[in-house]
Amino acid sequence: MERACAVCGSDRFVPFLEKDGYRIVRCAACAFLFVYPPPDSATLHALYTDPAYFRSEGPFGYADYAALRAFWETQARERLLVIERYVARGTLLDVGCASGIFLRVAQERGWKVSGIEIAPEAACEAERLTGCRIVSSPEPLLREGRTFDVITLWEYLEHVPDPRAELQRLSRLLRPEGLLALSTPNAGQRLAQRAPALWKEFKPPEHLSFFTAETLLRLLAACGFRELCVRAIAPDYRAPEWIERGIARARQRLGDRHDRRTPFWFLYSIARRAVRWTVIAYHKLFLSPLAYAGGLEVYARKERESE
Ligand SMILES: [Zn+2]
Repeated sequence: MERACAVCGSDRFVPFLEKDGYRIVRCAACAFLFVYPPPDSATLHALYTDPAYFRSEGPFGYADYAALRAFWETQARERLLVIERYVARGTLLDVGCASGIFLRVAQERGWKVSGIEIAPEAACEAERLTGCRIVSSPEPLLREGRTFDVITLWEYLEHVPDPRAELQRLSRLLRPEGLLALSTPNAGQRLAQRAPALWKEFKPPEHLSFFTAETLLRLLAACGFRELCVRAIAPDYRAPEWIERGIARARQRLGDRHDRRTPFWFLYSIARRAVRWTVIAYHKLFLSPLAYAGGLEVYARKERESE
């Protein structure tokens, strides 16, 4: 199957990483990373409609979605505060809304909410939580000619096989000058770039596109969105591998506060803290936040002329 890079349109790709039988390639022109060839639509449909996705023990999905609820609620409030800087409260569509926690928090703040969710069980939960109709694809909303003031794509774009086509399709649901807010893992962080085999977000077929701030903003601009702000989220502070290994060995030998294997257990805690503080200080002083952010959050406005 022929395919062009979703970001820049080039058809020259170089191999980047083999993972679980899938091939991740890098665009030779713009460095966008994506799974090529992409899995077929039946594989993807089966992945997301399996109820185990939101409580799976395996490598995919969320280990226990419900247990993380308090965290999601706080995160939703933080994200809405950013959104409300740019747009007055009105209509909001959350695409890939899962069990509707973000929508519920938005509703409590006065937003009129709608959601799209492909996983049937999560969609039912979101309907129960918000009292709103949740649809399984954008098609019914497009047919009805609906438009929204805000569209949010939290941890969504990395899952779709063609992010450019998806953004263009969803853009038709956003009013001119409306706000697009999205988050995605940050493939520009050092671990992803230098030791990709260790980066847990390279997980096809669940994740298919891997954005850096640069490739994401370029794609958004190509789809008619103007950047308002980029936030670096969930920093992943990490010492060089040999230091991390040394610390792990010290714990096995000496034990820690909960498991005092020798009278010197406290040496392990001191060493661990010293390493952590040094690593954080190093990151803050010498690296850009985008070099260690686990994720990217982007807020962008739909250009009027892209209508
Ligand atoms: Zn490209």
